[in-house]
Amino acid sequence: MSSVAKNAYTEMVSSVRKAYNSGKTRPISFRVQQLKNMETMIRENSNEILDALAKDLRKPKLEATLYELEIILNELKGLIKNCKKHAEPDKLPVNLLAILDTAYIRKEPYGVVLVLGAWNYPVLLSLQPAMGAICAGNCVVIKPSELASHSAKLMAHLIPKYLDSDCYKVVLAEVEGTKDLLKNKWDYIFCTGGTNVGRAVMQAAASNLTPVTLELGGKSPCYVDESADFDLAAKRILWGKFANLGQTCIAPDYVLCSKNAEKAFLNMANVVLKEWYGDDLKTNTDIPRIVNARHCKRLKALLETTRGKIVFGGDTDEKDLWIEPTIVVDVEEDDPLMQEEIFGPILPIITVNSVDEAIEFINKRPRPLALYSFAKNEKMNDRLIENTTSGGVCVNDTMWHMAWNGLPFGGIGDSGMGNYHGKFSFDAFSHHRSVLNRSFSMLSEKLGEAR
Ligand code: NAD
Repeated sequence: MSSVAKNAYTEMVSSVRKAYNSGKTRPISFRVQQLKNMETMIRENSNEILDALAKDLRKPKLEATLYELEIILNELKGLIKNCKKHAEPDKLPVNLLAILDTAYIRKEPYGVVLVLGAWNYPVLLSLQPAMGAICAGNCVVIKPSELASHSAKLMAHLIPKYLDSDCYKVVLAEVEGTKDLLKNKWDYIFCTGGTNVGRAVMQAAASNLTPVTLELGGKSPCYVDESADFDLAAKRILWGKFANLGQTCIAPDYVLCSKNAEKAFLNMANVVLKEWYGDDLKTNTDIPRIVNARHCKRLKALLETTRGKIVFGGDTDEKDLWIEPTIVVDVEEDDPLMQEEIFGPILPIITVNSVDEAIEFINKRPRPLALYSFAKNEKMNDRLIENTTSGGVCVNDTMWHMAWNGLPFGGIGDSGMGNYHGKFSFDAFSHHRSVLNRSFSMLSEKLGEAR
């Protein structure tokens, strides 16, 4: 039996349902206008958004512009341009035995969608799913992460000013409030967060059989082959690991390589890090901070308990929410650094003697969100891809597959289910309803009998 408990949010959810049932979000022109309004909202308030991100995570302006605002604007551009095309029904090829009948697939909105955002890219991870849901004709309630409170409050202030306030709402809630929100009946739930949050959300969704997309995390491995281009590998792995001070779901969590490859990688890493950050990383304003004291303590404890050897960085300052970009070698499988997603600027290196050992190591662990492979020898990359699984793969770089137009983004197993971005977002928030329209003609009857 479905369960809907009345609570502080019930009235708000039924008002949004009423707006959905009015049919207001169905016309393509309405959806496109709302997406354009969101674009205007971002453009007119970019400074306020950058300020909020700086207050939440001390995100540097350039990083926030590139990895939040630009991705949002690019995604909006694609959805505005293609909304009509995405929404067109798929016509099926004519079947000889049903030559006078028509069959097609209608793309219908689910209805009222709940989007739960995470704190690490707080604006992007709330708005990117929401714009897919809007494009597909749904009403949307966004619950940004409470841990990035300045960004959350700003979205709650801006969205009703720019978007239709009956159909799109922002709710500010902490964990208990989010649990109450989840007790209401939703037609779709999209959640970005940790694997445990994903489990809680899926359990809540089960009571109403609500479908979900779960964008979760985990430990994304990075294999570096002896044939790698080490200059390029060092730059691209360290960029992926240290951007947003390691607080990125698809950051390479750890490196797997031989001792020879490790030596070559570390030689380049030292050069690259000095070039990027200089000698005093702590005063470098291009480096953000850890989101809060709890996560800073957690990361500091990892550095204090690892049995590996710190070969770069290692400095911490809880008062300043500071964990220095750090590389640790000689890390064993049972080391504290290897027990959970690091989600911070610590890069462990684990020794493997071949690509096959790397494959075995990866396959013993939960399925990762991303997998990275660095090799000039293409056979090594292919072997790794063919013998493992992950949400996505990027060869000879990190993270870029997330922003590549046309690629779906999502996890598998513990790293999530479902995917989104571009047309995949439209499809994630659409029910594909099959329609067969049988002809009245006698010929149709005859052909039907012949089947
Ligand atoms: P978080 O604490 O911000 O939680 C995410 C959302 O879930 C928030 O809106 C929060 O209010 C809600 N929430 C928290 N606890 C809940 C509960 N018990 N019941 C219901 N809702 C709850 O974020 P987090 O989980 O610390 O986020 C970090 C994790 O998210 C990392 O594992 C990271 O890899 C993952 N992540 C994944 C993606 C992706 O796209 N796959 C993107 C960013 C982050």
